[in-house]
Order: sequence, then C-alpha cells, then structure tokens
Amino acid sequence: MMAVDLRSLEVPPESAEGTPTRVATIRRIVQETPDTFTYWMTFRDPVDRATYRFAPGQLNMLYLFGVGEIPISVASDPELPARIAHTIRSTGRVTDAFRLLKPGDQVGVRGPFGRPWPLREARGGDLMIVAGGLGLAPLRSAIYQAIRHRGQFRRLMVLVGARGPEHMLYRQELDMWNQWMQFRGVETYLTVDVADDQWPYDEGVVTTLFPKVRVDPEWTTAFVCGPEIMMHFALRGLRDMEFPMDQVWVSMERNMQCAIRVCGHCQFGPKFVCADGPVFRYDEVADLMEVHEL
Ligand SMILES: Cc1cc2nc3c(=O)[nH]c(=O)nc-3n(C[C@H](O)[C@H](O)[C@H](O)COP(=O)(O)OP(=O)(O)OC[C@H]3O[C@@H](n4cnc5c(N)ncnc54)[C@H](O)[C@@H]3O)c2cc1C
Repeated sequence: MMAVDLRSLEVPPESAEGTPTRVATIRRIVQETPDTFTYWMTFRDPVDRATYRFAPGQLNMLYLFGVGEIPISVASDPELPARIAHTIRSTGRVTDAFRLLKPGDQVGVRGPFGRPWPLREARGGDLMIVAGGLGLAPLRSAIYQAIRHRGQFRRLMVLVGARGPEHMLYRQELDMWNQWMQFRGVETYLTVDVADDQWPYDEGVVTTLFPKVRVDPEWTTAFVCGPEIMMHFALRGLRDMEFPMDQVWVSMERNMQCAIRVCGHCQFGPKFVCADGPVFRYDEVADLMEVHEL
C-alpha cells in the first residue's frame, strides 16, 4: 500500500469537469469484511450539511487528495443526509489508499450522481430487494427508505447473500437490523454460500431463497445488485419465475471518471452508467448484459 500524506494537499474547489467538490470529514470507520470498510462522514461546511440530499442508489465521486477520484454508492439513510456512509472494498490504487484514512481526515465529495432506485414506481405493490456481497451497499439506502415508507408497499422482502459470514456486510448490526426489519413488517432472508457453526441464518446462494419467498411476480418489483455471476443467476431465477422484465431493476458498475456523461469511461453500449444509470430497468439492458457476459 502506498504512503500518502493525506492532509498535505488542498482539495480543488471544483473538479476538472466543473461540478463542485465538497469537503467531508471522516467521523467513523467500521470494518465490515477483511477488505471492506464503511466510512461515515459529515460535510465540513455547515451549508453543505444543511443542503446536501441524495436519493437511494445514487453515487458520489470521492476524491482522495493527491491520489484520485472514484465512484462509490451512498450507503446510508437518505432521510439523514447530514451524515453519509460509503462502504468501500479495496481493489486498487484509490480504494487501497482509503485504508490509510483515520477519523478526522478529509475527502472530497462530488455528487450525488445517477438514476436512483425507482421506489416511487414500486409503490402499491410488493417490493423484493435482492443483494449479493458488496451489492448490499447501493441497496442499503433503498432499504432504509422503503422501511421509512413501509405503508406504501404490500410486502417488503429483503434477500441478502454473501460468500461466507465473514463476507456479509454490516455484520455487526445485522442481528439487530434483522429484528428491527421484522418488527417493521419486513421479511428478511439472509444466506451465505458456506456457513460456519455460529451462522444462524440460511446456507446456499441467494437464489436458493427464491422458492421460500413465494412472490407473486405480477405484483412485485425487484431491485437486484451484486457481483456479475450473482446477477446472472438471480436474473435467470426471476425470469424462470415469470417476472415481467419491466418490473426488475439492476444497478450496474462500470469504470467511471467524469460522472457527467462526458468522458465515456462508463459507456455500456449506447448508455452511460453515470447518467443513464447506475440503476437500469432490466429490459433496457438485458441484451447488453448478455453481450458483456460472453
Ligand atoms: C456506480 C458505481 C457504484 C460503485 N459503488 C461502489 C461501492 O459502493 N463500494 C465499492 O467498494 N465500490 C464501488 N464501485 C466500484 C469502485 O468505484 C471501484 O472499485 C474503484 O473505482 C476502483 O478504483 P481503484 O483506484 O481502487 O482501482 P484501480 O486501480 O483503478 O483498478 C483496480 C482494478 O479494478 C478494475 N475496476 C476499477 N473500477 C471498476 C469498476 N467500477 N468495475 C469493475 N472493475 C473495476 C480496474 O480495471 C482494475 O483491474 C462503484 C462503481 C460504480 C461505477
């Protein structure tokens, strides 16, 4: 991991693309899995604290002074926007440098960007949220929002899968979260591919939960996010259940730089993940996903 003096560099008032960069101070860092951490932060400027808003599923471009900028989903409650969370897995240059941060350090935040999860469209019917691994991070804000407006949905189902208990995000709060969600009338299903003796929930990949849930596809909107292989099988499972494909929504990850439909790094066929997504209706991208998976 490279050594960087994170305090020595000034944050630019604006990115090269002209969208303002706000400065946020890291307040708390929670280790979620061996390589994934959640960074809770607040904006330094009181005006930013009072005015910043995001919708579930949107992302921020996080700028680490002197290192670079990366797209990361906002993983906290949209109705408490003064204190935001980002859950970050170390995969390379910038994400590795995040691991050097301590409470009190500062990062640049540009955003929010992107098309959010369509909670409004899902109202009146059942909502099924399916998350795999790190895919729970961009769905977490949608779960908070749906719980806050529980009365707007008939059934609310949250299905979460991870490789093993040690790879389950938000593990420290999971039992409490699970009880709280059930108390609020949320059906929760948690599973890991390979369990250990302490794991109290299901074992098996997330799609093994589908038969237990007994959804009524005609009435249900599904939000799906996870690693490519999980998405592949989850979407196949939903197709087999005869889900109308215009009621299934997915969040896509692509390399992204400008976040304002200019640089082309996140282009996905004719679409830009930063502006047309990251959330897409499945029937809009099904062909592109098949091509990508070849
Ligand atoms: C809309 C969106 C939301 C995201 N949300 C989160 C999140 O909540 N938490 C999180 O940990 N990560 C998230 N990511 C992924 C994150 O942006 C990348 O992991 C990060 O940009 C990698 O930067 P790096 O400098 O650490 O790695 P690099 O050194 O740039 O790259 C390391 C390796 O990862 C590959 N790579 C880089 N970015 C991506 C990507 N987006 N998809 C697939 N491969 C990639 C590179 O090609 C390279 O092989 C999101 C990405 C997008 C587009």
